[in-house]
Amino acid sequence: EIPFKKCGKIIVATTEDEIRIIEDILDTAAGNGVNDLELIDRDRIAELEPSVFALKAVWSPSTGIVDTHSLMKSLETGIILNGGRIAYDSEVTGIRKIAGGYEITITDSDKSSFTFTSRMVINSAGLASDLISEMAGLADEKLRINFCKGEYFRLNPPKNRLINRLVYPVPAHNLEGIGIHVTIDMKGGVKLGPDVSWLSSNVFDYKVTASKQDEFFRSVRKFLPFLEYDDLSPEMAGIRPKIQRRGEPARDFYIREESHRGMPGFINLIGIESPGLTSCLAIANYVREMISI
Ligand SMILES: Cc1cc2nc3c(=O)[nH]c(=O)nc-3n(C[C@H](O)[C@H](O)[C@H](O)COP(=O)(O)OP(=O)(O)OC[C@H]3O[C@@H](n4cnc5c(N)ncnc54)[C@H](O)[C@@H]3O)c2cc1C
Repeated sequence: EIPFKKCGKIIVATTEDEIRIIEDILDTAAGNGVNDLELIDRDRIAELEPSVFALKAVWSPSTGIVDTHSLMKSLETGIILNGGRIAYDSEVTGIRKIAGGYEITITDSDKSSFTFTSRMVINSAGLASDLISEMAGLADEKLRINFCKGEYFRLNPPKNRLINRLVYPVPAHNLEGIGIHVTIDMKGGVKLGPDVSWLSSNVFDYKVTASKQDEFFRSVRKFLPFLEYDDLSPEMAGIRPKIQRRGEPARDFYIREESHRGMPGFINLIGIESPGLTSCLAIANYVREMISI
C-alpha cells in the first residue's frame, strides 16, 4: 500500500491582478477537462486554511500528496515480480545501433563493463536524457537539457501545524517555475519552494543557499502573514531537467519513438520535469502504447 492523502490545494490571489490570473487558470483547467476546480472567496479560504491570506483562490479538492519513496519501492517490486531486472550502480556508457536493435554498454561501480543487445531502448535518464540520446546518435540542440536548480526551506515546528493543504501562489507568466509554494508531506512537515536558479553549466550542484532565507521569507509572507523570519531553515535542493531555455516559454515533455529519425524502437523521454512524478503512470501507459507499435 502506498501512503497518500487527498489534502487538496489552493492557488491564492493576493491582488486584483492575480485574481484575473487565477480566473484564467480556471478556464485553462476546464479546457483540459479538469472540472472540479472552484473559485473561492475569503470566507471559504478562511474555513479551509485560516492562517493563509488571499483575496480569492482556486480550490482543487482532488489534489493530493503521495509518499514518493513508497511509490518508487512499489514500482521496483512490480518490475522484479514481473521478471524484470534492475542494474543498480551501473551507468550506460555506450549505445550503438545494430541490425534489428541496439547494443548497450554498461559500466558498473567497479569500472567493469559489459554489453547486451535489445530491440528497444527507453531513455528516461532525467538530467542525462539528452546525453543518452546523443550517445545513440540523436544529437539535437533543441532537446538540450538546461539544469534549473530549485531550493527549499523548511517551515519550522510548531508553525508547520498552521498549514493543512498545498498552497500555491499564481505562477510566473513564462512558467520557469510555478512559484515558491507550500508543500506538506505525509508526516506533517511543511516545505517552501522551489525557487528558480538556472545553472550556467550543467553541474550537479545540490547546495542549499542559506542566504536565500530572506528572499523566501519575502516571497511567501504575502500569503502567509503569520510567518516570521526565524520560522524558516534551509532544507534541500533539486535540479529540473528543462528543455525550455532561460527566458523562453515553457516546453512540453518530449516523449517520442524515434523511427522518424532513423532509430526505430528508441523511445526518448526528455525534459520530464514537474509534474513528471505525478504523471509517471500516465507517461508509462503512453510509452507502453509506443512499445506495442
Ligand atoms: C525541485 C524539484 C521538485 C519537483 N517536484 C515535483 C512535484 O511536486 N510533482 C511532480 O510530479 N514532479 C516533481 N518534480 C519532477 C520529478 O522529480 C521528475 O519529473 C521525475 O523525477 C522525472 O522522472 P524521470 O524518471 O524522467 O527522471 P529521474 O527521476 O531524474 O531519473 C533518471 C534516472 O536515470 C539515471 N541515469 C542518468 N544517466 C544515466 C546513465 N548514463 N546510465 C544509467 N542511469 C542513468 C539517474 O541516475 C536517475 O536515477 C520535481 C523535480 C524537482 C527537481
